Formats: sequence, C-alpha cells, structure tokens
Amino acid sequence: MKNLRSIALKEAQDRKSPEVSSPSPKISEYFGSHVFDKKKMRDYLSKEVYEKLISSIGYGEILNQEDANQIASAMKTWAMSKGVTHYTHWFQPLTGTTAEKHDSFFEPSGEGAIEKFAGSALVQQEPDASSFPNGGIRNTFEARGYTAWDPSSPAFIMERKAGKTLCIPTVFVAYTGEALDYKAPLLKALAAMDKAAVEVCQYFDKSITKVNASLGIEQEYFLVDLALYNARPDLALTGRALFGHISAKGQQLEDHYFGSIPDRVFTYMVDFENEALKLGIPLKTRHNEVAPSQFECAPIYEEINLAIDHNQLLMDVMEKVALRHNFKVLFHEKPYAGINGSGKHNNWSLITDTGKNLLAPGKTPKNNLMFLTFFVNTIKAVHEHADLLRASISSVSNDHRLGANEAPPAIISIFLGQQLDGILDEIEHSRINKKAKEESGMWLGIPKIPQISLDNTDRNRTSPFAFTGNKFELRAVGSSANSSGAMTVLNTIVADQLVKFKVEVDKLIKKGEKKDVAILTIIKKYIKESKDIRFEGNGYGKEWEDEAAKRGLSNIKTTPKALDALVSEKTTDLFIKTNVFSKRELHARHEILLEEFYKKLQIESRVMGEVVNSQIIPAAISYQNELIKNAQGIKDLGIGEDALATPLALIKEISDHIKGVKTNVDEMLEARKVSNVIEDTREKAIAYDEKVKIYFDTIRYHTDKLEQIINDQIWPLPKFRELLFLNK
Ligand SMILES: [Mg+2]
Repeated sequence: MKNLRSIALKEAQDRKSPEVSSPSPKISEYFGSHVFDKKKMRDYLSKEVYEKLISSIGYGEILNQEDANQIASAMKTWAMSKGVTHYTHWFQPLTGTTAEKHDSFFEPSGEGAIEKFAGSALVQQEPDASSFPNGGIRNTFEARGYTAWDPSSPAFIMERKAGKTLCIPTVFVAYTGEALDYKAPLLKALAAMDKAAVEVCQYFDKSITKVNASLGIEQEYFLVDLALYNARPDLALTGRALFGHISAKGQQLEDHYFGSIPDRVFTYMVDFENEALKLGIPLKTRHNEVAPSQFECAPIYEEINLAIDHNQLLMDVMEKVALRHNFKVLFHEKPYAGINGSGKHNNWSLITDTGKNLLAPGKTPKNNLMFLTFFVNTIKAVHEHADLLRASISSVSNDHRLGANEAPPAIISIFLGQQLDGILDEIEHSRINKKAKEESGMWLGIPKIPQISLDNTDRNRTSPFAFTGNKFELRAVGSSANSSGAMTVLNTIVADQLVKFKVEVDKLIKKGEKKDVAILTIIKKYIKESKDIRFEGNGYGKEWEDEAAKRGLSNIKTTPKALDALVSEKTTDLFIKTNVFSKRELHARHEILLEEFYKKLQIESRVMGEVVNSQIIPAAISYQNELIKNAQGIKDLGIGEDALATPLALIKEISDHIKGVKTNVDEMLEARKVSNVIEDTREKAIAYDEKVKIYFDTIRYHTDKLEQIINDQIWPLPKFRELLFLNK
C-alpha cells in the first residue's frame, strides 16, 4: 500500500504553477485600486464632508451622523461599482489573526429590495463575538462586544473568486469600552506619543503640530508544498515540525540567502504581490532568506496603524494566494529545528507633519540637538522598560527563536553603531561649553555627527534593538505576531519618557537656564543613566550573557515568566498614566497570553502523542518485523553467526528507541494530566513549560533516530529534505 508520504511526494514533484500576470507593467496604475483612498473619497464625497473626513483621519475630529451617512453611501456606491455585494467590519481580536463577519448591502423593502449601507452600520456594529479571547472581561451572558470604525485606516475590497467584500477596519471593544483587540490600545499609544512628541518638538520648531510614528515591517516566511504539509499532522496543526531529522544539507553552504528565486516560488510572489498592491500595501522588496525554503518580503514604511493593518492583511493574502499555488505559507517562528527561524523586523521612526524624521541626524551640531533628544529619550525608555519590551515579544513560538543563536537574544539591549556610540560617550564626558560658536565643530559639547551611510549601521545582526541610520529596528518580534503588541509598548514607553524629559527640562529653564543648555544637561544625564542597555558586541555570545548579568539586565528565557512584566506595578502605573490600558485590561491580556501559551503546548503535546502512537511506532514495528523475518531466514540458511549480527543489532536498536519514545510519551501524558488540573493560569503555563515541554526533545531524539534507521519506503512523514527542497 502506498503511504500518504509517497503520494504527497509524487504530487509535489509534478506541480505546475498557475498562470500569473500583473495587471500592468506599471505598478502605479493599479496600486490601491481596491482601496477607498483619499482620491476616491474626494471623487465620491462632497467637499465639506471630504475635508471633515481628512481632518478626522489626521486629528481625530468626530464625525456626525449625517457625515457618516454620506461616507457610507459613497463607500457603497464605489464598492458596488467594483462588484461588491457585502461589507464587513474587519478587526484584530487577540487570537492574533483578523476577524470578519459579512453582511450584505441587500435589504428587502416594501416594493422589492434595495441595496443599503447606513452611516450607523459603518460607524458601529455589534458582532455576536462572545467566543473571542477576553481574559475575563466579558462573560458569555453579557457578551456584547462592539466594533467601531477606525477612519484613519481606509476601507478596502477583499476579492475572492466567488465574490467581493468591502472591509472596514475597526477597533473591537467590550460594552464597557475595554479593549478586546490589538488596535484600540495601539491607537491610544499613538495618541500619547503624538501629544508628548509634539510638546517636545515645540522646543525646536513651533510649526510642528503632529508627530506620527512610522513603521516598516519585514516579513519572513517559509513555503512548503501543500501535499507534503498535509501529510505532516504536526505542521498542519501546530505550524511547526515536531519531528524530523535535520536534512543532510540545510543552510550550511549559505547558498540560499539572496540566491536566485525558484520559478514556482517567484510566480507565487508575483501573484500575492499583485493582490497586496491592489490593496494599497506598498510592497517593495522580495528575496530568499537564510534557510532553505525561507523567504522575505518588505514594504515601504507607513504610518504605524496603517503599516500594522497592512501587515495583518498581507499575511491573510499570502495564505490565501499560497493555496492557488499548492503552497502552504508558514509564519511560525521556528517551523524546523536546526535551521533559522523567522522574524518580523519592525523599523520604527517618528515623523513630523512638517516632514522631518526625528530620528535622522541633522547636518550641524545645533540641529542635532533635536535628533539627540528623541534618540536618547528612546534609549532611556528602553532602558527603563526593557522587561516590558521583552514581554511584548513573548509567545510560545518566539521562545524557540529568542536566544537560539540565530535571532536576537532574550536580553534586551541596544546597538547604536560605533560612531553614535562614541558620540554619546563624548557628550557624556565633555563639559557643556556655553560659549561655543555654532559654526565650530563642537557646539555646546555636542560633536558633529557625520552623516551615516545606512550600510555602516546595520552590521550587528545579533542585537534585538538596533539603530540603523534614521530609525530603530526592533528585531525580536516573531514572524507570526501582530506587531501591535510590541509597538503599543514601544510608543507608550517613549511617549512617557518624553513627558518626563519635558518636565525636567522645564524645571531647569524655570531656574534660569538657557533652553539649549537645559536640554543638553538632561540628555547628558540620560546618557549616563541608560548606559547599561547599550551593547555593541556579539549578542549571541556566552560572554554577553555574563556581562549582561553583571550589568543587571534581565535574561528571561521563557514566556510565562517574561509576561510578569505586563502586570508589574511599574507597568500598570505607566499604562494608566498614559491612558493606554486600565489595570483590568492589562490583567485580561496577561491571562489571554498565558492561556495561549499553555494551550499551544497542550496541542503540540497531543499531536506528538498521536503521531508517535499511530504512525511512528507502527512504522518502526513493521520494519522490525521485516528484520526479524530476515534474521530468521539467515538463521535457517545456517550461514553462521556473523551474518546475523547486523539484523539483530538493528532489531535491538529499534526496540530501544521504541521503548524510549513510548515511555516518554506516556510520561508526558501523565505530566499533562497533572498540569491540566492546576487552576492558576500562570502556574499552569509554567507547568506546561517546565513539566510537559521537557519531554519534547527526548521524544524527538528517539523518533529522529528511528527515521534514520527505518526503511525510507515505509517512513510515514515527509522528511526535512523533502519539505525544504521540493519547491522548484
Ligand atoms: Mg530577514
């Protein structure tokens, strides 16, 4: 009988790509064609309502019912002209994916039927969404949750083969107003950042009235043939291979990175990029990543809320389009042990409404005071709240990656590059020269900052948070994560830091100090106070772990403990002060993240047990029986003991591994039973981490040994070499 693996292998080898063609050789001709963007708003709205909507997008001005009616009607007219029949509020619940519930425009009326979309339906919906994670904020008997329109992210059309849907980006909140999603707190953090940054900008430029955080998200992913994926219950149910001996050839030759993209993959890339571009996602870059079958795409940076909506949408589009190509896209941080995992580098900066990037050094020492203000405050904020930032990137899947010598370590540190690191040292140690002329190379004690070419700043790939010329790059975010978690934290801590900075500077000014001197005095103080977080060396080395411990930096390796920082007194104060989370919301989130952690381990452990018992052990026994027959035959021939040595040794080896794997699976089951009855969620998550997960490696050791011994013809699971190399 043919096993699923051999059928899948045949299918994977015979793949033909579907025909793919771009709508036009000029991307600008179809970019954003499925988005109700500013141009379409202008075309479909009265001048007055258009201006109100623009002001609502930029400055949060409230729109009235009549305006909403006109906007809804305009959206409907535009959408219907593109063949749309349904609309949905599109939101980002704490499951990590996106959610939608479609309603049609169609409505029966006295004389037949009409297509209708009222302003009230645009602005607010009440999905019966009681089954989303809420961490105790909602009970099912009071399950009301509301989605509310976010005008700052434009509506778009999601196109499927069978129909089109108008998607309206929304926040998702409980009837009490408490956030149940990723977007609501992010918007609050961005509001806090805008306010704090504008106030600090006033020291330098009175014309600045708005500061937007910007973000560019690099997305790494793996591709695997759909048939092979379906023949691996572990990949299909957990997103990662729980078994599998490393392929003899992996990434050691470094021949995949930036290599020529295989044809089948290239066709897929073009296909999903076309879809993404129609949705206004400004994709720019594509390339092979380090591991075999690993790739990356990256857009141009955008306002942060939009960048995150676009990343969530992109992941959805990539998954859908992959199926047309008989691929499965894996966003898991570590689908395959032994080769690199995937991340989502978050390139973050601050841009004013006058077009200035606050994290780009200026040309003269004087206009570098503004740059240094934002630069040093960011460093100080990360120093103060490193544990919280670490918590914000924690997940069961990212635990495989952080500190695994291929991705940033679990120790949060900042890499600035030699030049800027040296400049901060120089500022720290030089006296403020109040008389220095602006034209001189050194002003007030600020040396000239050379214009840094981007190539010079990106040398240290081992740092979790690196300055790269005109932005900071948070590299520790997991590839499957919604970046909002980390970005809500980053923007909140920097906003809070800027508020503190302003208080300290104003105090000095009040005492009679000149403004520039006051600013520089506080910057110098912050440089000194936050020095320990700066690290220029190899973040993967053991020496850094020791050094970091000496500096008092945390090195929390697992999620359940890292998440403690989310509910500490310091964090609670921070979030309440900045109006981003209430205490109840924080505790709810903490609970949800812990639940997600142990539930995912629970699923992995169950899948492991099932595959071992129903596929691996039977395959091992079947091969062992062949060997027993073989040994018996040799014995019957009477050709001597020597000839029996190999089959007998193999029979024994297989027995040992079967015993090893079976004993550990049984013990793991017992450990699960013990963990399952623990009531406290944190304790339960720790139990799963420390008492259940520890069996995974041992089980895998035995199954991977069996994989290497057993007849390839009967091994049931597609092997790593097949998963990784059959994509041409
Ligand atoms: Mg990369």
